[in-house]
Amino acid sequence: EFSLKGKKAIVTGGARIELVSSPLKHEKYNSGLGLEICRALAESGADVALMYVSSDSTHDTAAKIGEEFNVTCKAYKADISDEKQTKDAIEQIHKDLGRIDVFVANAGISMNGNAETFAISDWKRLFDVNVHGVFYGVQAVSKYMLEQGSGSIILMSSVSAHLANQPQYQCAYNCTKASVSMMGKCLAYEWGTRGVRVNSICPGYMATDMLTQFTAKRPDLAAAWNSLNPMQRMGAPKEIKGAVVFLASEASSFVTGTDLFVDGGYNA
Ligand code: NAD
Repeated sequence: EFSLKGKKAIVTGGARIELVSSPLKHEKYNSGLGLEICRALAESGADVALMYVSSDSTHDTAAKIGEEFNVTCKAYKADISDEKQTKDAIEQIHKDLGRIDVFVANAGISMNGNAETFAISDWKRLFDVNVHGVFYGVQAVSKYMLEQGSGSIILMSSVSAHLANQPQYQCAYNCTKASVSMMGKCLAYEWGTRGVRVNSICPGYMATDMLTQFTAKRPDLAAAWNSLNPMQRMGAPKEIKGAVVFLASEASSFVTGTDLFVDGGYNA
């Protein structure tokens, strides 16, 4: 039931291989969620198209994942906030793979700041990437999934869709993630009878570069964040894998429109 053998999957924000040389590289964890998601899908038997924007070394990462798990894994460059780039890349992926069974809209950015001084250009950029970018991808894959009458779309939302973060303020980011979770519910409803399931994953604090960029400057933040959840620690990137494989596979065949929390109980 958890097998993805023969399935074709796309992951956006697919690799954080650039972290290998990042000064922020964490002692214990050194990848973004996207890389772990790609590895999890490949490990379960899926061929994976890995969409990236920032580092062309992603092509090597993809090849390595393919070799390790004996599947096809290829990288495609597209800025998800650009509708044309995203749609063109997905069209090319569909041509190459023949179908699309799983779409993980993982790419996203975060910015913190007090609302009263938050730059409007940053507010707009967050929505361009985290909301509009997600929808461009979802709309492009939905064409193929609805035609074939099957598919699983997984949106990377956040526990921040559901609660206000402390001690740093993140009004804009949280609003984008609340939009993502609501997008998932609406699309689940719209496509429920047509074989396409849509779910969101809501991670809590995961020790990826998205957070280490802050904790590197403010070590007190890590302690504060840890204290906020019952397990008193951040998640490791690989702790996202089970949720992704569950939602991508037939194991979740009656699950749609839900928010799956992977947050050490932070929302409890
Ligand atoms: P990350 O910064 O390590 O990875 C994000 C990826 O998205 C990177 O590979 C980046 O290149 C890519 N990306 C950014 N802008 C893009 C664009 N315009 N086009 C294409 N790709 C783009 O962050 P992460 O922690 O791995 O986050 C992955 C997802 O999980 C994000 O959507 C994030 O909001 C969400 N999330 C993360 C946490 C956390 O604690 N790390 C918590 C909740 C939700």
